[in-house]
Amino acid sequence: MEELQDLYQEVILDHNRNPRNFGPLPGATHSMEGFNPLCGDRIHLHLKTNGNVIEEARFEGQGCAISTASASLMTEAIKGKRVEQAEQLFSEIHHLLTGDAPADEDRLDKLIVLSGVRNFPTRVKCASLPWHALNATLTGEEDSVSTE
Ligand code: ZN
Repeated sequence: MEELQDLYQEVILDHNRNPRNFGPLPGATHSMEGFNPLCGDRIHLHLKTNGNVIEEARFEGQGCAISTASASLMTEAIKGKRVEQAEQLFSEIHHLLTGDAPADEDRLDKLIVLSGVRNFPTRVKCASLPWHALNATLTGEEDSVSTE
């Protein structure tokens, strides 16, 4: 299991050092700010949807390695997906991070690395922050989200 943890850590460090899809998104159809006061993570998620498909996903902001890597992995995972698929992924990640239901490892693919934070309860909110921002912007219920 130790090797697996090392692998998880490597992916997270890589995405923190070189975040994918980082920067503004001109013509975004959805924007949502997420804030995690416990850690000070602040991310701004932008989506561009066409009909029911998420064509583009980018993020800005500053946060710790976990929140940055989670946002980077998330934008990669949801690009090209339908809105309902992204919402399904949100609930699967929620289960993965809280450990309240078995995760579908095949479907989660690279996102499974986020399960590494389960052993660090204070970091769970860092990892879930971008996902809460995603859910909030897709449901359109709030202007910003806070993990508290
Ligand atoms: Zn954090």
